[in-house]
Amino acid sequence: MYTVGDKLELRKEHPCGGKIWEVLKAGVDTRIKCLTCGRVILLPREKLLKQIKKTMHK
Ligand SMILES: [Zn+2]
Repeated sequence: MYTVGDKLELRKEHPCGGKIWEVLKAGVDTRIKCLTCGRVILLPREKLLKQIKKTMHK
């Protein structure tokens, strides 16, 4: 599991080429920010959990 401030490596690349995201808000919907381009998106937790390759705790 992840918490706010953790960095996540996802299986799928963002269109910008980035794979590392920072958790801004955890919950049923999780807000994550792409550390390569700065884009913020909201994803359902269940969907995000399947996408996580690696969790880097702060
Ligand atoms: Zn990006």
